[in-house]
Amino acid sequence: MICNICPRECGIDRKTEKGICGCGENMRISRAAPHFWEEPPISYKNGSGTVFFAGCNLKCVFCQNREISRCETGKEITADRLYEIFSELKSQGVHNINLVTPTHYTEQIIPVLKKAKAEKFPLPIVWNSGGYEKAETIKRLDGLVDIYLPDFKYIRSETALRYSGAADYFEQASKALDEMVRQCGNEVIHRGTMRRGVIVRHLVLPGHTEESIEIIKYLHSRYGNRIHISIMNQYTPMDQVKNTHPEIYRRVTEAEYNEVVDFARHIGVEKAFVQDGETAKESFIPPFDNTGV
Ligand code: SF4
Repeated sequence: MICNICPRECGIDRKTEKGICGCGENMRISRAAPHFWEEPPISYKNGSGTVFFAGCNLKCVFCQNREISRCETGKEITADRLYEIFSELKSQGVHNINLVTPTHYTEQIIPVLKKAKAEKFPLPIVWNSGGYEKAETIKRLDGLVDIYLPDFKYIRSETALRYSGAADYFEQASKALDEMVRQCGNEVIHRGTMRRGVIVRHLVLPGHTEESIEIIKYLHSRYGNRIHISIMNQYTPMDQVKNTHPEIYRRVTEAEYNEVVDFARHIGVEKAFVQDGETAKESFIPPFDNTGV
């Protein structure tokens, strides 16, 4: 399988080689369990049925999940097993199936989602990605995904290059988001849980409020109330950036975070999720110990 599924366009055969995402042909999963720290209409009371895929097509220097993003942990699973996991999560009472960092396995996941739709699997499917996607790949998910939950990390190419090695992040992510909103922008929330919709996450980086403000402005002017914007303050400085990127080796201050949230309010963003100071803790990272795999 020659892989060009994401904007990296490695063009390699994943049967025999690994691309930038670090993954071969078979899906690897590090955890499948209810998760209670997503946005309120996603986690709601019983949690979101998260499936954490190993590997990632972004190479964020500040990654909090490095142990799984390098694709070295987790367990290889088949498409049949993934579908079984969906059912097992459903029996635990979760409100949705939340595919976390699925982009590099899109090809392998599509048949499973087709089966879920054909068999009328009752829970919404959430596509929870870093946002660095090809619009043409997202088009193939039309009718298979109910909720898009992408990050929107950068608008400036120099920042995207410095922190994620992806200078074209905005160019790719903005086109992909257009397609996500086209598919699921007509939001449906039923009894407190989202059944269809788009929530765009933006993580505020220390010292980068100007760029965050540009992003909020862009998202609001382009999509208005067709999307929710989740403004996140949970950036955690990891030791790995201490020497290489010292400017982001600190937490986001309350003043910085408030500046971004106040701006969103000021321009009339109504559908927003904001976080309180307690969220910036590593304890929100679940153990990637193959639970539920
Ligand atoms: S999914 Fe992986 S191998 Fe395929 S193009 Fe993207 S980074 Fe390269």
